[in-house]
Amino acid sequence: MKVNFPYKKRYYDFNTFLRQQFGCRVHKISLDAGFSCPNRDGTKGTGGCIYCNPYGSGTGAWARGLSISEQIRQAKEFLSRRYKAKKFIAYFQSFCNTYGPYPRLKALYEEALAHEDIVGLAVGTRPDCVDERIISLLASYTDRYQVWIEYGLQSIHDRTLKLINRGHTYADFLKAVEMTAGRKILICVHIILGLPGENREDMLATVKALAQLPINGIKFHHLYVIKGTKMAEMYLKGEYTPLSQEEYVELLIEALELLPPHIVVQRLMGDPRKDELLAPAWSLRKRETLTLIEKRLEEKNTWQGKRWQQN
Ligand code: SF4
Repeated sequence: MKVNFPYKKRYYDFNTFLRQQFGCRVHKISLDAGFSCPNRDGTKGTGGCIYCNPYGSGTGAWARGLSISEQIRQAKEFLSRRYKAKKFIAYFQSFCNTYGPYPRLKALYEEALAHEDIVGLAVGTRPDCVDERIISLLASYTDRYQVWIEYGLQSIHDRTLKLINRGHTYADFLKAVEMTAGRKILICVHIILGLPGENREDMLATVKALAQLPINGIKFHHLYVIKGTKMAEMYLKGEYTPLSQEEYVELLIEALELLPPHIVVQRLMGDPRKDELLAPAWSLRKRETLTLIEKRLEEKNTWQGKRWQQN
């Protein structure tokens, strides 16, 4: 019997959180505002993170000439037709969405928020790409909207961050969290399991460290290899072996056990495009992997927070 966990699933999933907040299902609309990344444009580096392709997890919509308003209009039409969706969060996803001139950032966020039925804003960025002015701007929307900032951290280990060429340190991340916490902005952190050079203890140390911070959400990704990246070279030379599906599921369950029950789990695995993926092949079997995670949580009779220890 499941004890001590109040939700239907054995982890605090994002849909449950959004239903609690808004009383209905809320969909995120992924937006591409044509931003760049300091780890690609030469400010921090030129090659980018070793697993990132030149599209920076983007939809490419901006490059196709679609404004933020047009992207929202198209997504709303699709999601309303397909899922009868009524409320939406504008999610600035591609590249670094706080990296640009302040007036441009403000104009783009407010263009998105002006749309009917947009109830929230989510901004994906790097921890070294925020400052007091940007945080204050995001905080100014929190009275009327749910506002998330999503920090890409990936690992707390500086040796790993160096190896994957992140161009920032764990200390940069802690500084960003300190700047953001207490401003009514919800903080979501992205981490990757299966980074080169990391063992089980290293990965779980990242989760344990996050469990002690004032964060509200987490996105788990497994490391997958995208064609044309530095990771692809390493993989093809036999210098990197991705996690198997079983390894990932077991690691993820351990990670969930270590997280406090109030942290919302926004994502359980990465989601590569089929035409870009080199390995592992199971990355494309998302439904199967998610079912396996739920099945193993049941079999082990475990849940998010089961082994969480507050310092
Ligand atoms: S910070 Fe993000 S967009 Fe920039 S290179 Fe790394 S993964 Fe790509």
